[in-house]
Amino acid sequence: MRKIDPGAARYLDRTSNAGSLSLGDTDALNPVPADAKRLRRMVQLVFQNPYGSLNPRKTIGAILEEPLIINTSLGKAERRQQALAMMARVGLGAEHARRYPHMFSGGQRQRVAIARALMLQPALVVADEPVSALDVSVQAQVLNLLLDLQQQFGLAYLFISHDLAVVRYIAHDVLVMYLGLAVEHGAKDLIFDRPLHPYTQALLASTPALGGARHKRQMVKGEIPSPLDVPKGCVFATRCPHVTDLCRVERPPLRTCGGRLVACHYAERFLRSTTAKLTASPTSLSNVCYRSEVHFERRSAYFALRR
Ligand code: SF4
Repeated sequence: MRKIDPGAARYLDRTSNAGSLSLGDTDALNPVPADAKRLRRMVQLVFQNPYGSLNPRKTIGAILEEPLIINTSLGKAERRQQALAMMARVGLGAEHARRYPHMFSGGQRQRVAIARALMLQPALVVADEPVSALDVSVQAQVLNLLLDLQQQFGLAYLFISHDLAVVRYIAHDVLVMYLGLAVEHGAKDLIFDRPLHPYTQALLASTPALGGARHKRQMVKGEIPSPLDVPKGCVFATRCPHVTDLCRVERPPLRTCGGRLVACHYAERFLRSTTAKLTASPTSLSNVCYRSEVHFERRSAYFALRR
């Protein structure tokens, strides 16, 4: 797998217009013209609604050939051959090439959308809630397809989801966002086993449990501020059960604590308390955090979670 180097793809600090965004050694925010064209091929998208993202007037074959027409000088026969090969990779037959999007199921349409994203052999696929519109059984098929394609093509995914079961199944790294700002970022096991930010803790504690893993529900109270008028201090201050005066006036920076990045003034305190809980009862936290894993076995990918 080709994973985006965390040092190469850095955060943008929205509040101060600082930071940079680069893919490898290419500046993705202000690319020179030659790099801009290369970037368009390096990064592709898979949208949440596979029906809305496919042109209903075009056949699947034409939809898959379109990126090649725009970005390459391949001839008609070669384009058709590559489209059919990609359809086979995502589990569609050659006979599907003449059909229109409305003739497919939701899962098949998402396979077409994934195939289209891969036609230019990108390095990074941004998948925005790619399985949330699908039934659970079809979700599992599409997730497995994404993981298999990752192995075959050496892809990195920026996988956006609200579904913690999906996150746990597919991610290597997890970035938790609240009101558009990163609040915690680290390796999946760290985030799920020992969440430090109160928002991450609440998110994990709110996931329904199956299979008898009983846990105390943690309700987050308070109003969600408008994203257009985020609080001056910590963005989670209006709903955090641990809020102090300091939180209301000073925004905590994203900083290293417990092997991950976390934006909380009291992250060390939460780290100590989770360490104490783990020492007292090694299974207590995993009962809380692993319950979202009920549907899927563990696999891997690059992933980001947003509120
Ligand atoms: S900085 Fe304060 S308000 Fe924000 S998450 Fe930490 S404890 Fe809660």
